[in-house]
Amino acid sequence: MKRYFIHTFGCQMNVNDSLRMSEVLSQMSYAPTPVPDNADLIILNTCSIREKAEDKMLSALGRYKPVKASRGALIGVGGCVAQQEKDKLLKKVPYLDFVFGPDNIARLPDIINRVSAERERVVETAFVNSEEYVFPRADPETSRGKVTEFVTVMKGCDNVCSFCIVPHTRGREVSRAFPDVLVEVADLAKVGVREVTLIGQNVNSYAGGISFAQLLLRTAEVPGIERVRFTTSHPHDLSDELIEAFRIQPKITPHFHLPVQCGSDRILKMMRRDYTVEQYLERLAKLREARPGIAVTTDIIVGFPGETEEEFEMTMKLTEQVRYDNQFSFVYSPRPKTGAALREKDWGPVPHEVKIARLERLQKLQRRISGEITAALVGTEVEVMVEGHSRYDPTKRFGRTPENRTVNFDGDAPAGAFVTVKVERATPNQLAGTQVALLKPPTVEPLPVPVGETPFHAVAEA
Ligand code: SAM
Ligand code: SF4
Repeated sequence: MKRYFIHTFGCQMNVNDSLRMSEVLSQMSYAPTPVPDNADLIILNTCSIREKAEDKMLSALGRYKPVKASRGALIGVGGCVAQQEKDKLLKKVPYLDFVFGPDNIARLPDIINRVSAERERVVETAFVNSEEYVFPRADPETSRGKVTEFVTVMKGCDNVCSFCIVPHTRGREVSRAFPDVLVEVADLAKVGVREVTLIGQNVNSYAGGISFAQLLLRTAEVPGIERVRFTTSHPHDLSDELIEAFRIQPKITPHFHLPVQCGSDRILKMMRRDYTVEQYLERLAKLREARPGIAVTTDIIVGFPGETEEEFEMTMKLTEQVRYDNQFSFVYSPRPKTGAALREKDWGPVPHEVKIARLERLQKLQRRISGEITAALVGTEVEVMVEGHSRYDPTKRFGRTPENRTVNFDGDAPAGAFVTVKVERATPNQLAGTQVALLKPPTVEPLPVPVGETPFHAVAEA
């Protein structure tokens, strides 16, 4: 049997794509290997959202060159860099055998046969027409033993945020028909999954036959499913109907990731984000009124072209005002063919040192706020869905609260159980404590293997 190794970069969409690749390869009688050195096939599933991710991919590619020299392994690049660079990548990397875009995963058998039988170097990066696109269906058996899973509900993005390369690499939005989503969720529930996260680049513009709010409500009704999450959303599609779903269905977890990107209306306009800070705050206030205590997280870009010190201060002020539970903040990275990159010279690039200094200030502020929020939980009891053993200490258990806070605790509940945990210690990103009571046992017998251990190709490098 031949062996394959997949190196995944980037977001959860890529992790999911890597899992689909591994299913396709298993049907071709390839077996996974956790190390590249004994692989016959190496695939890099790439991310191009920021330049750094692209550089990391190129240096990893260099590390795999000796495996090709020593045992003739085939090397392919998939994902967003593949889609962006196409045949240019073959020219740049002479030992690369094939390049394929995110829409071409199902074509892997054909691509690999052409490369190995005909010694052809192959590029497959055409987007599939929206009407013809078939969402690869996850094999539920690969999820047995897991309690939380991701389910793809849409792909691509129809927005035109001026900093973002996603519309260029992932194509137009296509929504998956809602009955297919619900069947996949039901299949996952049958193998013991109790929490699903519906994923897409912009899930609240979902159009698979019902609204996104209705999709969440229907998902929450699938027998065995206790928690429903989703990621990621654009603030301009945060409808009243979606807010109402949070009010009426407690299984929709009290956590909303709502990327604001920055606190200045002028910069938001240049980013083509379609909302003002005031409109964003109005949506958030409505959401918090519908579900008091909801955790809110966000994405921020600092150092967007033309951002002044005063405008950066507006992002700091917004961070204080909203008191986000957490933020994912990045320095602006110009991406090929995007509106902001094309106009960066006119708008005035922010010097790298300034960007880094602003990022550090913002992250320091957010750490303080996150720390204050988690410190207030010390002494309280929180509900935790057990996901497995703690990564830091195998004698402890690990799980998450409904607000998506990670908790490591002393206890004996198996994966899939719901427990209450008394919080004894807190850091800005984690809680620690002791199990107090078992609320619900798991729905299926837990597997004897260490639960929650992620397949190696399902761990992405940022
Ligand atoms: N669809 C989501 C939205 O509308 O907010 C965002 C998805 S994007 C994959 C994840 C995050 O990467 C963005 O929210 C943004 O903060 C960040 N990002 C995207 N392009 C970037 C760039 N050129 N430079 C720095 N960060 C970027
Ligand atoms: Fe990129 Fe998100 Fe904007 Fe789409 S909505 S272009 S994925 S930042």
